[in-house]
Amino acid sequence: MSRGTFELISSHGDHEQVVYCHNKEVGLKAIIAIHNTTLGPALGGTRMWNYRNEEEALIDVLRLSKGMTYKASAAGLNLGGGKAVIIGDPKTQKTEGLFRAFGRFVNSLNGRYITAEDVGTTVREMEYIFMETAWVTGIPKAFGGSGDPSPYTAHGVLMGIKATVKEKFGSDSLKGVRIAVQGLGNVGFHLVEYLAKEQALITVADIDPEKVKTVTTRFGCAAVSADDIAYVDCDVFAPCAMGAVINDHSIQKIKAKAVCGGANNQLAEARHGDMLRELGILYAPDYVTNAGGLMNVFVELEGYSPDRALDKTVQVYDNLMRVFAIAKRDSVGTHTAADRLAEERIQTIGKLQQSHAGLSHRPFSTLKEIKNR
Ligand code: NAD
Repeated sequence: MSRGTFELISSHGDHEQVVYCHNKEVGLKAIIAIHNTTLGPALGGTRMWNYRNEEEALIDVLRLSKGMTYKASAAGLNLGGGKAVIIGDPKTQKTEGLFRAFGRFVNSLNGRYITAEDVGTTVREMEYIFMETAWVTGIPKAFGGSGDPSPYTAHGVLMGIKATVKEKFGSDSLKGVRIAVQGLGNVGFHLVEYLAKEQALITVADIDPEKVKTVTTRFGCAAVSADDIAYVDCDVFAPCAMGAVINDHSIQKIKAKAVCGGANNQLAEARHGDMLRELGILYAPDYVTNAGGLMNVFVELEGYSPDRALDKTVQVYDNLMRVFAIAKRDSVGTHTAADRLAEERIQTIGKLQQSHAGLSHRPFSTLKEIKNR
């Protein structure tokens, strides 16, 4: 017998609210999950995916929304965690009506959930959602939005690499530091550009030979095959392509002294974080390192400024230093320490809200007022 919806929800975390959105006319079937709003409104993208069934979609949105709570908290942002999924084929089933109907559901939550792009959605669909609600980020620059987050993500990763190198080798200068970058897409390309300015010794790889050619020609770095990049003898391995790159197959062959990159879900399983620790390889947890894109979107909520967004991504450095300190304090892997950093912040601010409920504080509505200006 299949499990009940409430049972599924409670077995995937302490979510505050799960909203099913349905419109027969336009064929909308969507789920919005709000995991935690202790720190602020729940922000997270809308994923459109051809889920095999509704249970798979529900589990995905529960998992992803919880991840956003941790990411925003560890980033030091006044945001909670949320996510939305639309069940459907993004190649064939996207219509204006579908996204405008979805936008109305987002609007009905009155700012408790703020959406953005994710897998299967683009700036175009954000424009449709924006026609129905102000509670959407990642809209085009022409509408006062922040546009492509990748350069900001990359700048945050650069700061993350500096913090990691400082922790591992005692100095955060990247001059002469050997860095292997896997993936030269939106994040990887900008990262290599920043690393070249820092005079790092860069080795790159991508499955797309054109991208390798462009980057090696432009920045004068070395290249290896996509199969070899994770095993280059170097100081820092920077995964900027797909997830689960640290797994049972790869882990014993990694020669890097530290891992710090922009890719999501780099550890195939949490135990691989413990294994990296045992091997003496310093791991910069992915969701702390790649939070620059989220910081960029947060700045959009306050009235966008590219300079302020870039400044904000510098905080990745201090956030990672905190993670490394907690890992030492508690004798745990850095992936566990990152979760503790996120949880401790939510607990502290949550208690503050309870004990000082009568004192004035900056309410969510301030964000709304700013957005409506
Ligand atoms: P992208 O699709 O632009 O780039 C990915 C690159 O990796 C492509 O060039 C692709 O050819 C390459 N690639 C794929 N498989 C590879 C392999 N086996 N070996 C080497 N290269 C391979 O994606 P992106 O926006 O640059 O994102 C990269 C990673 O960072 C993803 O995991 C993404 O989830 C994560 N991330 C991105 C952002 C952002 O702002 N774009 C923010 C947070 C996290």
